[in-house]
Amino acid sequence: MNLYMLDVDGVLTDEHARPNDEAIALLARLAEHHPISMVTGRGAGWLAQNILGSLSEHFLTSPPFGNPVCCAEYGGVLFRWNGEVWKHEVNTDFAPIPGDIRTEIKKRVKNIRGVFFDTDKQIMVSIEAEHTLKKTEPDIVTNGLTEAQEMLKAYATSTLGYRRTTYVCDLIVRSKQGAWMDKEYGAHQVLNRLTGTPTYAQVIGDSLSDFQMADAFLQHQIPFTFHYVGDKNSPELLTHKNNGKYHLNITNKRYAEGTIEVLRSCLQIPA
Ligand SMILES: [Mg+2]
Repeated sequence: MNLYMLDVDGVLTDEHARPNDEAIALLARLAEHHPISMVTGRGAGWLAQNILGSLSEHFLTSPPFGNPVCCAEYGGVLFRWNGEVWKHEVNTDFAPIPGDIRTEIKKRVKNIRGVFFDTDKQIMVSIEAEHTLKKTEPDIVTNGLTEAQEMLKAYATSTLGYRRTTYVCDLIVRSKQGAWMDKEYGAHQVLNRLTGTPTYAQVIGDSLSDFQMADAFLQHQIPFTFHYVGDKNSPELLTHKNNGKYHLNITNKRYAEGTIEVLRSCLQIPA
């Protein structure tokens, strides 16, 4: 049994967060015979609206194998296909960041140009880049993200039990069992909900944080290939060490186009 586990942003979307219909359709075709899953830091609303809705349109005519599991908020919110709809469940392993802290951060973010407070998040707090401004005034967005990261420092303390992530502008929380929200946590959530153990995993990601999904497979001793569809000029990612540890396959095309390349090859569709 081959398990497919995908990041979402930059994997099923282009670099501007626009979903790719062809990649989603190919994933649905694979889902007919294999368990598929997604692990993202995105909120449940965005995931449902942009990806899961179009994926399950395919499911209605070609039902998937098993019950696909998808993680929003790194597994803080879970979706499971029950044969008819995506069943949505808030993970009670986490105590959400309280409303008063959210309100305070939201207020402060209003004064930072180039970024906005993501109201879609239910457990963690995320500050997102303004995608439209990214194209026209990238410096404003970069500076905004740096300022927002600085601002989050005050909240990322051991007393509150929150942590900042370094690759995105997030404030994450720790589970009651002590695990931090990240893609490895999400990957474990998927594995825990599968019926049976996969004999091989195909992992598709576009950034450093996506290696965390592969870390879960290393822990479970499930062999895998990590298909890297992100920026090729990312030297810290594409090292010899990572190549050995993560069994990297670097696709010829980038982002969703790279994912299409992987999925077509898995479906044995000639290029
Ligand atoms: Mg990504």
